[in-house]
Amino acid sequence: MEKLLNELSSECQPAYGVECDVAINAQVPENLKRSIPLGLPSIAENDLLRHFTNLSRKNYALSTVFYPLGSCTMKYNPLINERIAGNDAFNNVHPYQPIETMQGVLEVMYELEKDLCEVAGMDTFSLQQAAGAHGEFAGLLVIAEYFKSIKQKRRKIIVPDSAHGTNPASAAFAGFEIVPLKSEPDGSVSLDKLKEVLTPEVAAMMLTVPNTLGIFEKSIDEVSKLVHDNGSLLYYDGANLNAVMGIVRPGDMGFDVMHINLHKTFSTPHGGGGPGSGPIGVKSFLEPFLPVPRVEKKKDKYVLNYKKSKSIGKLKAFFGNFPVILKAYAYVKALGGKGLKNVSEQAVLNANYMLAKFKDKVDVPAGDRCMHEFVLSPKTLLKNDIRTIDIAKRLLDYGYYAPTIYFPLIVDEAIMIEPTETESKETLDKFVNVVNKIILEESCQEPQKLKDAPINAPVRRLNEVEAARKPILKWE
Ligand SMILES: *Cc1c(COP(=O)(O)O)cnc(C)c1O
Repeated sequence: MEKLLNELSSECQPAYGVECDVAINAQVPENLKRSIPLGLPSIAENDLLRHFTNLSRKNYALSTVFYPLGSCTMKYNPLINERIAGNDAFNNVHPYQPIETMQGVLEVMYELEKDLCEVAGMDTFSLQQAAGAHGEFAGLLVIAEYFKSIKQKRRKIIVPDSAHGTNPASAAFAGFEIVPLKSEPDGSVSLDKLKEVLTPEVAAMMLTVPNTLGIFEKSIDEVSKLVHDNGSLLYYDGANLNAVMGIVRPGDMGFDVMHINLHKTFSTPHGGGGPGSGPIGVKSFLEPFLPVPRVEKKKDKYVLNYKKSKSIGKLKAFFGNFPVILKAYAYVKALGGKGLKNVSEQAVLNANYMLAKFKDKVDVPAGDRCMHEFVLSPKTLLKNDIRTIDIAKRLLDYGYYAPTIYFPLIVDEAIMIEPTETESKETLDKFVNVVNKIILEESCQEPQKLKDAPINAPVRRLNEVEAARKPILKWE
């Protein structure tokens, strides 16, 4: 185990530091000055460097291992875009600067909104939201305001059980009542069941496409017609847009509102607690309700419009997470339409290649083909009390990050794999072989290996519930 900084502290020559500016120090009134030392650890510079480098090596990261975490799109994001986002010309801009001095920033946002409209087939976008779920929340507030404006009381949102878990959560948070919809065995929407729940109180239906089983909604045209004939709106959860870019567009399929996760598809990794961005796109009749400020172009000048009387208001400080927006802009401009289409084609091809290699050996509940990800259910193969969690832990021993497990909830012992478009055939082959070996050989012949796993990781099996309920945040 790596020691804590306080444990490493010694009387040695401490790491190089810069003394506080004497002039500032002199201005601090005597009674406010510290009378006892701060008690910071004292560590030699090379020990400090090694401490942090060693800690970083204990992480599973895309820069060291294959990261097949389903639903999260842990792909390679071009490092050049991090450079661009870190450029001082953008980094040192302050949101309170006069608008004339940050025209470049506004241009990036204006242009990205236009590009996302093109990719998604929507009329306009707002970039303010900080995450996918935040985008859902914003989109649902837009829907609520719209129905208020036409004086209709619609308080229900239909959410299929194949939707992402954030969908019902966001709808409840936005004050709606959730109407769950049970899917067909293949994970698609049941039109008969949909007809039963489409009542006059339904404001919208939320659809995750591809759904959490990695399946495209084959009856989307019928679904769209049924929902709209009912006077309801259709919401597209586009967190996984890397499956459809340049191939189909949510706007063309009849969706009225959608969100995109820039921190999945557009050059920022998902997860890790870093900043994200969940732009929402709407059809023009919903534009008045979008959050403020709106970036607009007046002659040759970009301006921020805060005066939108029907807007749902402000959802995030200033302009949203601008560096994430900037990386997405650089990514879109570098790839262009053809490049983005290629991303999706490759993502779908890679997933289907892996699926084909698993299919004869392990149960695949949603069938023969998938979009950018797929779900395995090894339930029938597992003996000796082995469960999916044991497989995931054993994968750590082989140097892989574990796939998403026990999600979606509609599949028993689910293992959800998303290879992404950026992995090579060799990487995919190796991973498939290891998973098959664990499930088909080790779980029968050497079950103890799975129960003891991980053996090679920096820590063994943690009590995850206890860690979440009683985190130890203070060093005594
Ligand atoms: C990741 C994801 C979300 C939620 O996005 P966050 O940024 O984590 O809030 C919503 N829907 C789907 C389908 C997703 O994959």
